[in-house]
Amino acid sequence: MQINLTAEDDIFRSDVRQFLDDHLDADLRRAGELASGICGDHEQTMRWHKILHDKGWVAPNWPVAFGGTGWSDMQRYIWINECARANAPRLYPMGLGMIGPTLTVCGTKQQQEKYLPRLLSGEDIWCQGYSEPGSGSDLASLQCQAVRDGDDYVINGSKIWTSYAQHATHIFCLVRTQKTGKPQQGISFLLIEMDTPGISVAPIITLAGDHEVNQVFFDNVRVPVEQIVGEENDGWTVAKTLLTFERSAAYAARLGTRLTQLKQLIDDIDPDQSEAMQRRFGEISVRVQAIEMTEFRVQAALAAGQSPGAASSQLKVMGTEVQQAIDELAIEALGIYAAPWQQHLREMGNNQKPAGPEATMKFMPDYLNNRAATIYGGSSEVQRNILAKLALGL
Ligand SMILES: Cc1cc2nc3c(=O)[nH]c(=O)nc-3n(C[C@H](O)[C@H](O)[C@H](O)COP(=O)(O)OP(=O)(O)OC[C@H]3O[C@@H](n4cnc5c(N)ncnc54)[C@H](O)[C@@H]3O)c2cc1C
Repeated sequence: MQINLTAEDDIFRSDVRQFLDDHLDADLRRAGELASGICGDHEQTMRWHKILHDKGWVAPNWPVAFGGTGWSDMQRYIWINECARANAPRLYPMGLGMIGPTLTVCGTKQQQEKYLPRLLSGEDIWCQGYSEPGSGSDLASLQCQAVRDGDDYVINGSKIWTSYAQHATHIFCLVRTQKTGKPQQGISFLLIEMDTPGISVAPIITLAGDHEVNQVFFDNVRVPVEQIVGEENDGWTVAKTLLTFERSAAYAARLGTRLTQLKQLIDDIDPDQSEAMQRRFGEISVRVQAIEMTEFRVQAALAAGQSPGAASSQLKVMGTEVQQAIDELAIEALGIYAAPWQQHLREMGNNQKPAGPEATMKFMPDYLNNRAATIYGGSSEVQRNILAKLALGL
């Protein structure tokens, strides 16, 4: 398949490349390169956020009326790809990618005016309070309770795996407001300030040694009723709206960047590569190309006003599983150098050299953290269930 950009998109891509060349300094690129979780170093992430805000490019998927860029689907795709190629830090997705666009659709005028400008500027940072210790894939079973008391809801319970809650000023939460009827019908969607009395955050340190996820506890937390989004007991509708913004369909560029680094690593460490190693590298390269072609198909469908159908589930499964295949081959190539614990070397400002090639600093944390990629955002098993229904009609 031959993919050609239109002249307009080609100019857009050149402009984006020029902007990234001009604004991504060494610290920002390093933070992007060394990030092995969803995002990387907090300070650099927020520095990049402010640069994009000043340029007016911080929220490409928001409507223009609320501060979006007005780019086409293809231009947004080009933007994501160019950022990945340049190792730009990834911005926190829960605010700009999830609650922001959701409020543009489901929020009241007061909520939009109160929250959206501060989210764009980076003054407010949001986290997502959906999962609970007993509720993940089966989210509708959630138990964190909100009881109406005068003009407030009183919240008791906890949320878990809450990414970046330690930096967040706000959390959007699914809470149970009714215990009878279908589980989905008794859920409400609340906007909560993290400094409200009764909220506490406990860190969960990941396999790679990063502080990315947390458990958030609610002990008689009072939240004014005007903080509800949508109707009481109809939060599931809001959650489904949010889900349409949560799924991103751009894996190929980031995988391509990782593949280039993997090739470099294999060439450096094992110049007489075995046939088996070469064959596995070739297989992974073909899978990355297949993902890229699927992404182009999605772009073509969107440009023609069609729905991409089951493609977002397909891309989630393919993108995250190929990422793990890249990580596994890298760890095999690294061999003994994969063993030392060198987490501290990834801190910004560190100038110590790792034991073994530079790539150990990237690939080992990636290998450990990316185990989670086939779980969060809808696990591979759950995506395959969706594919079985939507694509195979089972
Ligand atoms: C790094 C990381 C960051 C996260 N960040 C957030 C966040 O910011 N906010 C938030 O709310 N949540 C977050 N999550 C939680 C995430 O959404 C859940 O982990 C995910 O939905 C899976 O739920 P669970 O962990 O309860 O596993 P379970 O749902 O208990 O699943 C356990 C296993 O059973 C399988 N399984 C479950 N149901 C089915 C089924 N019907 N058919 C076949 N197999 C099934 C799953 O695939 C999995 O292998 C994060 C998770 C991780 C790992």
